Formats: sequence, C-alpha cells, structure tokens
Amino acid sequence: MKKKICTFRKKNIFKFTLILCILSVLNLISCTNIRNKYFEKSSIVMDTAVTLSASGDKSKEAVEESFKRLKEIEEMASTTIETSDIYKINSASGKDYVQVHPEIMKMIQTSIKYSKLSNGAFDITLGPLINLWGIGTDNEKLPKVEEIKDKLPLVGYDKIDVNEAEGSIMLKEKGMAVDLGGVAKGFAADEVLKIYKKYDINNGLINLGSSSIYAFGKNKDNNKWSVGIKNPRSNDSNEYMGVIKLSNESLSTSGDYERYFIKDNKRYHHILNPNTGYPVDNGAISDTIVINGDVEDNGMLADILTTTVFALGPEKGIELINSITGVSCEITTSDYKVYTSDGFKDRIENLKGDFKFVN
Ligand code: ADP
Ligand code: MG
Repeated sequence: MKKKICTFRKKNIFKFTLILCILSVLNLISCTNIRNKYFEKSSIVMDTAVTLSASGDKSKEAVEESFKRLKEIEEMASTTIETSDIYKINSASGKDYVQVHPEIMKMIQTSIKYSKLSNGAFDITLGPLINLWGIGTDNEKLPKVEEIKDKLPLVGYDKIDVNEAEGSIMLKEKGMAVDLGGVAKGFAADEVLKIYKKYDINNGLINLGSSSIYAFGKNKDNNKWSVGIKNPRSNDSNEYMGVIKLSNESLSTSGDYERYFIKDNKRYHHILNPNTGYPVDNGAISDTIVINGDVEDNGMLADILTTTVFALGPEKGIELINSITGVSCEITTSDYKVYTSDGFKDRIENLKGDFKFVN
C-alpha cells in the first residue's frame, strides 16, 4: 500500500518550488577568493530540496554541520519516524505526557501563541485531518463528509497540555495528532543561521525549499540578494510574479499550488481550515512574509505566519501583519490582486503582467 513517508510531504521534493534564488546565487558561485571561500550544497531533508550556500573561511564546515542539524530536527519533528517526539506525543494522545526536546517544546509553544493570535486559523493539531486528506502524498484523496466530521472534534490547540516545568506534552484526547509541517522548516532555518554565525560566515543563502529562506549579508557584488516569488498560476517553476531584494531577512511563501490535487475542476490544497476541515477557501492563492533578521526566531515566525496569513485571507491577514513589528507581507488572490502590508508594496519589484497591487 502506498503511504505517506514523512511529516513534511513529498510532492515537491524534486521541484525547487516557488522561490528562485536568482542571479545572486550564480554570482556567488564565482566568488572563490581564498579568504572568503564559497561553499554550496543541496540535499533532500525534511522532504524538502534544501540548498545551503556560505562564504567565509569555514564555509564548508558551517554547511556540513547545518545539514547534520537539519537531520536532527527532522528526527525530532517527523510524524512518521517512530522515535520522534511528535510520533510519541501522537501515539500517547489521550493517555500520557511525553518528555520532549526543548526544540519541540519551543515549536509547540510558539505555535500555540500564534493560534491564539489568529483566533485558531493556525493550528498544529490539524494532524488527523492532514493525514485523512494525505495531500502531497501518494494516497491523497477527497474524504467523505462523514470522515471529516469524525475528525474535526480532535482539532483544537487548546487541547494540548503543556507541562513546561517537566518539559512534557500531552494531547488531551485519544486520536489527536500534532503536525509541525507549518513551523519546523522555519525553526530549522533559524538553527542554520546560528551555525553560520558561529563559523563567522560573512554571506550566504539558506534555502529550505519554498517555505523558508534566510538571506544572510550581501551577494558578491555587495548588493542585496534577489529572491523571486513564484507565479502561483504558472506551470513553469522558474516564472516569478515579482522580485524582493533581501539582506539579513527571512522570507517565507505559502500557496495553494505547492501540494494539491484537482478533482471535478476543484483544487484541493494542503492548507486546511481548522473550523471546516477542508482546504482554506478564501480567495488566497499565495502569500509571502518578510521578517527583519533582528526579530527573534524570525525564520520560525515567517513560516508560521505565511500559513496563518493564507488561512486568514487578505483582510484579516494584513491586519495581523500590520500589528507585528518587523514583519511585512503580500497576499495574492485568485483574481491576481496583490494585497500588501504597510509600505511593503515598494519592496516588490517587477510585478508581472496580470498581477495588480490593490493598495
Ligand atoms: P510548506 O510545507 O511548503 O512550508 P506551509 O508553510 O504553508 O507549507 O505549511 C503548510 C503545512 O502546514 C501543511 O502541509 C500542513 O502540514 C500544515 N498545515 C496545514 N494547514 C495548517 C493550519 N491551518 N495551521 C497549521 N498548520 C497547517
Ligand atoms: Mg512553510
């Protein structure tokens, strides 16, 4: 029987999905002077095509150690690796507290914080429904209405019991399941950045697929990094709808085109509405968050907030982002309108053809 292989879904593994590291990366490749050695490596981790590049005397060490760290995070956060904290928490749902690594505690506590802030639009307890739909796996399907109704009562971030003093977690009802697909890659990007800093890396691009990018320093021409936002309705993954220039900032994108299937002319994608159990259906087709590198845990927040803003839709999403210091966003709807948070319009360059800014 076909089965889901990992928490982080598999459909887009071999597509270097929506974010394109445009010319800056190529420029950096040619940067090989001895005091500022360039090193780049790509690999699949967390079911994601990850590319890490760095410039500095210890660039190779930094990149190699980062890949080890990514593997460690995957082994803690996966829903299917039986030794992972998340697997253990889900297996013990309704029964026991499970001792977790501080990393998992941090991801879960931060997720709960943003669930509260978004009135539940972001919710890591969607696990039972994510598994039911299987979107992005070999067994994706349109579930029966009754199946969705059965699983919905198991969703609710308020049913996660956190014992901070003991460092343990319990899901209050049997059958509940946590899924960190909307947070772990961002957390991982922050961890890579810490390693880069430890090795005195000067410049580099941390690219965990579409979800999480950190642009560290400048490119070889001493310019900001150029990152393309994928055109959400183009089959060509190299076609972008606009370009954002970044330096010491996180960028994250979510969309309905990354993992989806189409049945009877309707698109079913991987970001679910915790109230209905169905894919979010508010007109949004993609969104991008940019966070200043000074903001604590910016990678993790960017990851959480792209999923959150997508789920909230343009109006509430923009309102939320405007209330958080150091965070900006755009959200694109199916009529190709591009909504932006305060001042962010000016940061999107070369907006292509059919796309139009609303505000
Ligand atoms: P990516 O995996 O490309 O980074 P996102 O960051 O948008 O995509 O996260 C989407 C993933 O988050 C889904 O595949 C699923 O695992 C999980 N998820 C789906 N809907 C929600 C939601 N409303 N709240 C929290 N997590 C969600
Ligand atoms: Mg993400």
